[in-house]
Amino acid sequence: MSIVSRREAVAGAGLALAFGLTSRLSIDPAFAQTTAPPAKGFSTYKVGSFECTAVYDGIWEKPHDPVFIANASIDDVKGSMRKAGLTDAFVSIPFTPLLVKAGNELIQFDAGTGGQVQPSAGTLHANMKAAGLDPAKVTKVMISHFHPDHIFGLMEKGTNAQVYPNAEIIVSSAEYDFWTDPAVIEKLPEARRPLAKRIQSTIATWKNVRRIDGEREVMPGVRTIATPGHTPGHIAFHLSSGNAQMIYSGDMFYQPAMSLPNPGWHGVFDQNASLAEKSRRALADRLVADKILVAGYHFPWPGAGIIAKDGSGYTLTPSKA
Ligand SMILES: [Zn+2]
Repeated sequence: MSIVSRREAVAGAGLALAFGLTSRLSIDPAFAQTTAPPAKGFSTYKVGSFECTAVYDGIWEKPHDPVFIANASIDDVKGSMRKAGLTDAFVSIPFTPLLVKAGNELIQFDAGTGGQVQPSAGTLHANMKAAGLDPAKVTKVMISHFHPDHIFGLMEKGTNAQVYPNAEIIVSSAEYDFWTDPAVIEKLPEARRPLAKRIQSTIATWKNVRRIDGEREVMPGVRTIATPGHTPGHIAFHLSSGNAQMIYSGDMFYQPAMSLPNPGWHGVFDQNASLAEKSRRALADRLVADKILVAGYHFPWPGAGIIAKDGSGYTLTPSKA
């Protein structure tokens, strides 16, 4: 039995291109990018003594697609975009890694696209420099999961050389084990195979990768939260400093305009959609109960906000940039 849903396999052909799963990239002129980048490509805030900087890496204006959400129509998706104050011409999927200064450490949450996922994305390092953050000084890169938009920023285009050779790359054991198993390749749909092959020729061979089992402290004030489903080993990160807390949620809510009001919508990128829903609801309930800030890789700029309960779903009040 395939370990990837048939929906993902069926969607693969069109989505592969958009998600950089093949080596060919092209822009459909009908979808040339229209979203302007933020006036300033970084936004800072504090969580206790942690100095956080959201850094803009670009956006994917995803064309509407009937298989994108298994149990919702394109009209439903368009409606959720409009309700969140977004255009309904496409699904806005920005990429926003989070940088955190913690004492002598400079920690990066998710690696960015490396300019290898969407033609217009890849502004992370330029925006880090504008924020006074030197990519060469990053000491740890924490990875939520191994989808291209989260890890290609670890790998140089063309050579696959490490972009952060001096940093510790922190990943979940479950995610690492899934993608680095040589037997996974033939079980994956065609569109996902190049991704697994690339992981096996890069991350699997690197000596600076630290694997984390389950939920534990990674460094003082940073703990992993197991949130499987989107991928087998997806993790979120809980940050605490003094009385202040926040959660970096990776792709648990990916496009919050859809997944928060409709936590039961099953997205095509969720490898195990019902498990992803369970993780999503549990994390959202925790955020509501604790009333703490949440950052999300695909949240609207500046990539963070507060989640509240709203009927049978949730709403996001985005932070101000
Ligand atoms: Zn993602």
